[in-house]
Amino acid sequence: MDDNSQTKRTYAFERRLLVLYDVVIIGAGISGTMCAYMLAKYDLSVAVLEAGEDIAAGSTRANSAIVHAGYDAKEGTLKALLNVRGCEMMEGIAKSLDVHYKRCGSLVVGFSSKDREHIELLKRRGETNGVKELRIIEADELHSMEPYVSKEATCALLAPTAGIVCPYDLAFAVSENAVTNGARFHFDFKVDRIEKTDNGFAVSAGEKTIKGKYVLNCAGLYCDEVASLAGDPLPFEIIPRRGEYMLLDKAESFIASRTLFVTPSEKGKGILVSPTADGNIIVGPNANIVEEKSDTSVTYEGLDEIAEGARLITPDINLKANITSFAGVRPTPSSGDFYIQPSSKIDGLIHVAGIESPGLASSPAIGEYVVEILKKCGLKMKKRKNYIKTRSRTGNYKLFCDMTNEERAEAIEKNPAYAKMICRCENITEGDILNAIHRPIPAHTVDMVKRRTRSGMGRCQGGFCRTRVADIISRELDIPLSEIRKFTKNSKILYGKTK
Ligand SMILES: Cc1cc2nc3c(=O)[nH]c(=O)nc-3n(C[C@H](O)[C@H](O)[C@H](O)COP(=O)(O)OP(=O)(O)OC[C@H]3O[C@@H](n4cnc5c(N)ncnc54)[C@H](O)[C@@H]3O)c2cc1C
Repeated sequence: MDDNSQTKRTYAFERRLLVLYDVVIIGAGISGTMCAYMLAKYDLSVAVLEAGEDIAAGSTRANSAIVHAGYDAKEGTLKALLNVRGCEMMEGIAKSLDVHYKRCGSLVVGFSSKDREHIELLKRRGETNGVKELRIIEADELHSMEPYVSKEATCALLAPTAGIVCPYDLAFAVSENAVTNGARFHFDFKVDRIEKTDNGFAVSAGEKTIKGKYVLNCAGLYCDEVASLAGDPLPFEIIPRRGEYMLLDKAESFIASRTLFVTPSEKGKGILVSPTADGNIIVGPNANIVEEKSDTSVTYEGLDEIAEGARLITPDINLKANITSFAGVRPTPSSGDFYIQPSSKIDGLIHVAGIESPGLASSPAIGEYVVEILKKCGLKMKKRKNYIKTRSRTGNYKLFCDMTNEERAEAIEKNPAYAKMICRCENITEGDILNAIHRPIPAHTVDMVKRRTRSGMGRCQGGFCRTRVADIISRELDIPLSEIRKFTKNSKILYGKTK
């Protein structure tokens, strides 16, 4: 039986019996999925409840994707501790789960004596936090490392341990591994009731209820609302701060080989120019408080602001090579630090809240930290027998474009669909798309396939492949083509025949 059909059978079984899980996780962003991944190493039953239709529906979907080294967070904060540890752990997880990650290093670029002072402060702070290999470099070395950095730059803080990762690929990878090791994911499950029971909690979304001994509140921007639903309001506010971005074509990748930050000052607000793990250049973000937590709109003013920041650091950057713009919203805690602790009011409830940047970089350490909290709270943990380290029983999910020629020949031999190119920009084959549709957490919309394979993420942004992908989903899942959606419930691609 494959992972997918096993998952379907288990859902049906759960609906009949109302299983009592050891741990119920609310939210399938990087915090929740990393907790599921770490918990799946133990012989525990774990359920992840997600309001959206897929993994990474919140801040995890749209961010800078930097694995920060750990010199930004103030000394002694939980952020500092978990950022440095998370950054150390990231490479190992990325390797074992085939995640797009690169330890490219970062540079905080300075222009003035004031910037130099700030850079020196960041270096001292980083060293106190335990960041290794930090070094201040002078203009000559900076320009030999990064020739397109402004000639006005005078120095920089080099952090070789920083990296870049594809955030949703990371979230999919740890989730697929967790499912392979027994965790269950429930989508379209927007928790609206949390009741304390004799042996734990009953967590509901409308008519649906899932029971668990322990509940993790990993609801990102909505962690304050979930805390209140459980009867334990957070002692701080969540402030939604939007960050806008431009994503440049891969042809511009020469402009930066490391993540380039502007030293935060009156000249700039910390806008970065960075390679992405998939080979593009990302420019942004700004930081503006928004009224609605769901406000991911992109504005002319915002794009101007980030363009100005990008030109400050790399004056020759070609912003006409922008292939798409997007925005993400940070769940900024008014307290300024991550809040990961058991509720003092309600036994068995653990908040994983206020996870703003560097939440992605810290995520492996957040998962590890939560495991320790659960142990202290009394959850018995025994290592899982036959633990599977990779994404699934059948192996990893290497894309055709990432394979060696020998691997490609072998893939085509086993499945001729790998010889049919569907996304010409990103070189994604039909074999990759079929794989995405049948993975442990299957894709059934065009954007779900896109985030699992990158089809539609290239220069033409899906102009060529979108309908072809829709056609494959329709054929494979036996859904009428007219019912195939881009992503959300109201995003049908085809509305009827023209001829
Ligand atoms: C602009 C920007 C730039 C950033 N840059 C970086 C960076 O470079 N490096 C870095 O380390 N970090 C960065 N971050 C921070 C990072 O993205 C977040 O810290 C991280 O994604 C938070 O993950 P999470 O799982 O806690 O929250 P989310 O990803 O928001 O996940 C929470 C999930 O909970 C679900 N949910 C909410 N309410 C309910 C409910 N009632 N029932 C069920 N499910 C629910 C949501 O649908 C969502 O999927 C950035 C963030 C932004 C916005």
